[in-house]
Amino acid sequence: MLFRMKKKALILIETRIDKTDNQTLKFINYLTKKFSGIFTFDILCFGNQNKTEKLSNNYNIEVVHCIQGVDDDQFKLYTKELSEVICQIAPDIIFARSNYLVEEILGTVSVYANYKFYGGISSLNYDDDCLCVEKNILNNCYTVSKRLALDEEKKIITVGNNIWNNSEIKATLPDESNLNHANIELYTFAPKNKLISVGTYANSNDFNNSRLIVSGGKGLQSSHGFNQLIELKEIIDCEIGASRAAVDSEIASKNRQIGQTGQTVQPEVYLALGISGATQHIAGILGSKIIIAVNKDRQANIFNYSDYGIVADVSDFLNEFIKQLSN
Ligand SMILES: Cc1cc2nc3c(=O)[nH]c(=O)nc-3n(C[C@H](O)[C@H](O)[C@H](O)COP(=O)(O)OP(=O)(O)OC[C@H]3O[C@@H](n4cnc5c(N)ncnc54)[C@H](O)[C@@H]3O)c2cc1C
Repeated sequence: MLFRMKKKALILIETRIDKTDNQTLKFINYLTKKFSGIFTFDILCFGNQNKTEKLSNNYNIEVVHCIQGVDDDQFKLYTKELSEVICQIAPDIIFARSNYLVEEILGTVSVYANYKFYGGISSLNYDDDCLCVEKNILNNCYTVSKRLALDEEKKIITVGNNIWNNSEIKATLPDESNLNHANIELYTFAPKNKLISVGTYANSNDFNNSRLIVSGGKGLQSSHGFNQLIELKEIIDCEIGASRAAVDSEIASKNRQIGQTGQTVQPEVYLALGISGATQHIAGILGSKIIIAVNKDRQANIFNYSDYGIVADVSDFLNEFIKQLSN
């Protein structure tokens, strides 16, 4: 009888392991169930190693490689170190969820570690020693497909949420009681001095073609707030904008600024989060069909221009909004 050696797959989780959300767990569940006959699975993550036990015991993960000493915002600074760890683990294939940050990081890793990069894949199947991948292009008007022979070059594949959400594989979340001893490898990256904000990662934007623009102001407080906007963008089709105060505080890049000295926008819906509604900002959004504002200050001027107003802490609002959309 002829046995085919399983290939080694590595699943990269880009958020801290203690923040792992249901979508990430569904992603791991999908891959490990669907391709269990072809791959063995390791996970690469960062954060608290205790949390990794859940993953390793519930999804048949061989080894959880856990990087310590790096915070979410800093991960992009470590692509070289990450590439070295990946070369050490030597997977045949790396899977990750598709988003801006991951694609920037893994795009760089693919160069350092010599992997072929396939980003934003919308369908993934196995047939006759090949992975069959599909990608939707040109605003989902066309689909291109390709067969990737497993024995050929090493690959990085990032996939969209729709793959596991539309799959027949039942999504299971970890069973808290099923915690044995996990096989964990620890790596430590020395912290670097320079912090860069997540808001500056996404440099391309397309305000003209966006039906929904979600803009963050100084009320988002830090780049973590913009991190949530990037998370939101993965779930719904929207573009991310910013007020000048957010840009000046370096939590968003200049090309996201909307207003008198930024860009003028006319989306179907403009969602203003933690923006006070200064006249210079309002000047850029008056062409929007519907304006919705979230601000903790009931008196904020933005409510004078809004069709709908929500008096709330913007972070609480985003947590709940993302949770509802993800479900
Ligand atoms: C010549 C000139 C040109 C300008 N051009 C522009 C421009 O193009 N675009 C632009 O945006 N601005 C422009 N400005 C700046 C503008 O005047 C304002 O300073 C800026 O728009 C304020 O941004 P903001 O609303 O994010 O910040 P802030 O005015 O500081 O408001 C922050 C808001 O967040 C709310 N908030 C705080 N914490 C929370 C929370 N946890 N939850 C919910 N809400 C919270 C607060 O209640 C507040 O309303 C210009 C100014 C000048 C002088």
